[in-house]
Amino acid sequence: MKKLKAFPKGGVNPHDNKEFTNSVTIRNAPIPSICTIPMHQHSGAPAKVLVSPGDAVQEGMLLGEASGFISAHVHSPVPGTVKDITMVALANGMASEAVVIELGGEFNRSGKKIQPVEWRNLSSSRLLKKIKEMGIVGMGGAAVPVHVKYTIQKGRHVEFFVVNGVECEPYLTADHRLMLEKTEEVLEGIEIIRKILKPDTVLIGIEENKPDAIAVMEEKIEQRGFGFHVFSLEMKYPQGDEKQLLKSLTGREVPSGMLPIEIGAVVSNVGTIFSIYEAVVFNKPLIERVVTVTGSAVTDPANLKVRIGTKIGDLIEECGGFRIPPKKIIAGGPMMGFAQVDMNSPVTKNVSGIIALPAEETRIPRETPCIRCGRCIRVCPMGLSPAYLYKWIDKQYIDKALKEGLMDCRECGSCGFVCPAGIPLVQGMKLGKLLAEKKRA
Ligand code: SF4
Ligand code: SF4
Repeated sequence: MKKLKAFPKGGVNPHDNKEFTNSVTIRNAPIPSICTIPMHQHSGAPAKVLVSPGDAVQEGMLLGEASGFISAHVHSPVPGTVKDITMVALANGMASEAVVIELGGEFNRSGKKIQPVEWRNLSSSRLLKKIKEMGIVGMGGAAVPVHVKYTIQKGRHVEFFVVNGVECEPYLTADHRLMLEKTEEVLEGIEIIRKILKPDTVLIGIEENKPDAIAVMEEKIEQRGFGFHVFSLEMKYPQGDEKQLLKSLTGREVPSGMLPIEIGAVVSNVGTIFSIYEAVVFNKPLIERVVTVTGSAVTDPANLKVRIGTKIGDLIEECGGFRIPPKKIIAGGPMMGFAQVDMNSPVTKNVSGIIALPAEETRIPRETPCIRCGRCIRVCPMGLSPAYLYKWIDKQYIDKALKEGLMDCRECGSCGFVCPAGIPLVQGMKLGKLLAEKKRA
């Protein structure tokens, strides 16, 4: 195993707090009696609703059809009856049309033995089509539809397929547990992707705080004779950001405004790869995912396999409720996630964790003027000047912010994490991007 340095510029070292759940085996969350399934759980256009109130639906049935190339199908996580089609607030603060299903009838997948598909006989275009049919999207954050990411333009060549097993956000352990408990399945998922993308090399990046995952992945790779390369990476946030991970593993930099394919790379995280395995081998749509429910305000933190559309509040209840009153509840990781106000928000395809923190662990600093300490500049992995960008956005000088690299911001939160003045820098970057989009429209 080669030991690589981390990405060269910036980064921070928050406490990883993974001890709550990193040795907790994944278990099934209860099936919700009401499931709320948003049509916009991915980047691109929302899916178009195909059902009406009163319709009976089966587990895994198509509820929403992708509308356009950058879009994804949405399937029913449970059997039952469509109660309503309504607008819901998502965990990321956006709104989406959603299908509400009341549980009822028989499960046609769960608990039944399904014959695995002999996928090695299928063509790469058939495999890609299957991934599209099953509504697979990136499960690490932006939820880019995978069939879009894996459609490589003619004349391009994939040099590296990179497996993102970094999971650098504090508290989250869903991918860690998948690597430990579903090692063979993850490796078979990589084999499927290898058949589609035909990369020269497969690189697997895992942060050094998961030595058990590194060991088991290396052992199984050797046993199976796969030529994949596992790299232990230094713990440094945001090591799991696609651009930083590529810098760490390949030494190459994705140019501003470009995608990894520009440097011959495609990246997917472990959760996504596991879903691809299930989609191809068991014809299983993306109707459930592993969610880490954690934080010191939670009675019994756990890694839960959750049906999409389950309420956040139901997951907290499944973990014994609150041990102490939480001051802040976050969907996703504490660095890039979203503070929650509504416990009825449904889990979507890209919600990797729910974190409940008591007051003493919640830093809600009072904002004071910038003291020009330069810390935000030092930690920015993209080499930006967050303090200046924030100033331009605040004054609504969007063109100036764009010129200074606003669109290169990865929204990693490192700048806000170190700012002694409590300036909400990353929120400023997000606002700046929205204003820039509005201006372009
Ligand atoms: S949020 Fe953006 S500006 Fe701040 S450190 Fe991360 S990349 Fe840099
Ligand atoms: S870290 Fe905060 S106080 Fe320091 S320069 Fe950046 S914005 Fe100003």
